[in-house]
Amino acid sequence: MERAQRLMPGGVNSPVRAFRAVGGHPLFIARALGARVFDADDNAYLDYIGSWGPAILGHAHPRVVQSVAETAAKGLSFGAPTEGEVRFAEAVMERYPSIQMLRCVSSGTEATMSALRVARGFTGRDVIVKFDGAYHGHSDSLLVKAGSGAATFGNPDSAGVPASIVENTVTVGYNDNAALNDLFAREGARIAAVIVEPVAGNMGLVPPQPQFLETILELCARHGALSIFDEVMTGCRVARGGAQGLFGMTPDLTCLGKIVGGGLPLAVYGGRADVMQRIAPLGPVYQAGTLSGNPIAVNAGLATLAELDNGSYQRLEELGSRLQTGLERALRETGTPGVVQRVGSMLTLFFHRGPVRSWLDAAASDTTRFGAWHRGLVTRGIYWPPSQFEAAFISLAHTEQDIDQTVEAALSALAE
Ligand SMILES: *Cc1c(COP(=O)(O)O)cnc(C)c1O
Repeated sequence: MERAQRLMPGGVNSPVRAFRAVGGHPLFIARALGARVFDADDNAYLDYIGSWGPAILGHAHPRVVQSVAETAAKGLSFGAPTEGEVRFAEAVMERYPSIQMLRCVSSGTEATMSALRVARGFTGRDVIVKFDGAYHGHSDSLLVKAGSGAATFGNPDSAGVPASIVENTVTVGYNDNAALNDLFAREGARIAAVIVEPVAGNMGLVPPQPQFLETILELCARHGALSIFDEVMTGCRVARGGAQGLFGMTPDLTCLGKIVGGGLPLAVYGGRADVMQRIAPLGPVYQAGTLSGNPIAVNAGLATLAELDNGSYQRLEELGSRLQTGLERALRETGTPGVVQRVGSMLTLFFHRGPVRSWLDAAASDTTRFGAWHRGLVTRGIYWPPSQFEAAFISLAHTEQDIDQTVEAALSALAE
């Protein structure tokens, strides 16, 4: 870590990995298999970070690894169309009927940034709306009240982002239908798009309240703005067809990442064909990428998606419910004020009486207590996300026994 800190800011290539929010030292991971990660000293930990979302099958799934190896042997990158990209696009569209046309990019950040650009290009408007505490990657326009890593460090608005750029970004409280209605009543004709995490995962897990997502779609349709579901985290996580499949909704545009790349750098933005046809070379909205649709990444994604059927989500729901019930019992038995919020295999234990419905609620959590609990978990072999404002993920490689072991560790750490 000392060597790393001399070479990289905080010793890491993405801030939350530095464990600054919880104290203690980040683990250097040497390998991972199934539900476990192994550190450089070969200690095993039950993993609830799952590479921050992608590892839904567990680590090093044999069919994904095989696909990566076979594809790599044929060459790493061509910068030319491949059949794998076509098959990948078909697999995504079969799961997301709202996506009529898509582009592959290399990160969730690129996906949301590009979706906004095409929304602005299509509508000819500049203003975008996001929700407090929602994270959509680190592009300038979206780094406003951005939850997660940024919130953890207490500077939700990043330095280095020109005021002239975020001038066109308006934020509203998550689940605040009244504020959204007011905003559209005042500014509706200037709004290009509303971007939303349909289940918020970057302020800790916050589900949408009834009518919240419906209100977004309805206001956008009425005022000629585009709705963008940022499903980089929820896509293929909360259901086979993401949160939009779970709730039966049809956004104009969707962003996917994390799981769709099976652990490799791959993300997607797509949606209505008339909007996506505005992108070069068909239209005037420019967006490109040297490694976009990389053959190894699309094949790892295809291999991952092939493993995920409706039964997988039934199984994840069972495991999630078991963990939630166990953690709630641990809170009760230790008399700890807290609430467990969950959708499927994504969950957060907030040190807050709950319910947590917005960033304001989440920010009132006892983060000092979270830090102490987190250190207690790591000591007991549980690799839990190192921030109150991150969601924990369960994979298909977790077993009932793993969940029960986690609950025991959580109980003992809370008692301590
Ligand atoms: C992780 C995440 C992103 C950013 O994706 P990167 O691949 O880290 O750039 C965007 N939106 C949401 C909802 C995310 O969870």
